[in-house]
Amino acid sequence: MNKDKIWLSSPHMGGNEQKFVNEAFKQNWVAPLGPNVNGFEEDIKKYLFTNSSGEGAVAALSSGTAALHLALIMLGVKAGDEVVCQSMTFAASANPIAYLGASPVFIDSEEKTLNLCPKALRVAIEDRISKGKKPKAIIAVHLYGMPYQVDEVHKVARKYEIPVVEDAAEALGSTYKGEKCGTFAEYAILSFNGNKIITTSGGGALVTRSQIAKDKAVFLATQARDAAPHYQHSEIGYNYRLSNISAGIGRGQMEVIDDRVEARRQMHDFYVNLFSEIEGVKVFSAPNDDYFCNHWLSVVSLDKNRTGGISREKLRLHLEKLNIESRPLWKPMHMQPVFKNAPFYGEGVAGQLFENGLCLPSGSNLTQEEKARIKTGVLSCFRK
Ligand SMILES: *Cc1c(COP(=O)(O)O)cnc(C)c1O
Repeated sequence: MNKDKIWLSSPHMGGNEQKFVNEAFKQNWVAPLGPNVNGFEEDIKKYLFTNSSGEGAVAALSSGTAALHLALIMLGVKAGDEVVCQSMTFAASANPIAYLGASPVFIDSEEKTLNLCPKALRVAIEDRISKGKKPKAIIAVHLYGMPYQVDEVHKVARKYEIPVVEDAAEALGSTYKGEKCGTFAEYAILSFNGNKIITTSGGGALVTRSQIAKDKAVFLATQARDAAPHYQHSEIGYNYRLSNISAGIGRGQMEVIDDRVEARRQMHDFYVNLFSEIEGVKVFSAPNDDYFCNHWLSVVSLDKNRTGGISREKLRLHLEKLNIESRPLWKPMHMQPVFKNAPFYGEGVAGQLFENGLCLPSGSNLTQEEKARIKTGVLSCFRK
């Protein structure tokens, strides 16, 4: 128990982060704008928009949550509106709906990608329309880095002409049919929180399809100041820009993004290998070659009828005693006390996944020794 804790996902610096931060100090760009903010935005844009994914622009913001809030504002979501949202996700996907006084409508997951079920989505939209309210937006999440069923979900969205907001907070580096997650919708969001695949200590980005949309987002993120020498405002603004110091960390992190994705994918392979010897545990993997997952977190699901009674909670507590962090999947939003009155459409897939699923240590900086500890720890839970 005196061994160092093995974390689920911890920051992993590349080496040049401090160089960019020091430059900011030298030039006195200690502010929520400056060369690092511009450079970081350019790095992300170059990384995301390749091949046929077309034009795009990136606004660096103080968090992924702020980015989602601005996306909904720019789509015109207002008090009393309804917004459709994947139920199985982190609360940050849904909270901005409530910030605007709008109401979430939650949708079940499908088992292939754990994400938005296109069938339940269609049923929900038709039902909401029949009740007199067409949803204003659809929030779709690439959970744990696994792309959602992009073609199927966007087909439903197009049919009813409802814009999709892509929550790619966990999916930087993932691709679907060769295109990067974060480039499929009018607006997408990224997060650079401490536990994400790259970090700026805290931060996020809004990915838009045009410079005009980006400029509008930056305007809103900097208190919506009109063009005047004095401070004049015709709209409500926000203080959501990313600090030039944090952006410096981001620039260093973008130099090593490909290595980070590779290392996380190797952790997934490590678990595939480890659990191949154990009955009743499924390591969650890409359904086919259309999906390239960054495996931000590696996810397993336990069938306790086949594991000899070992549930996800038994495994979690066993690892905890060995000072190894693991965590149940995100508890679905329709099961959260704060959203108990929100409508839910689906068959209980998300609830089942929550019941049986566990996220295992997935950091890109886990050492051979730590992997050996994880392996021994897992095996000792199943072989008693
Ligand atoms: C982390 C995360 C967010 C929010 O990002 P922050 O930068 O922490 O505000 C939103 N959605 C999902 C799915 C996330 O994992």
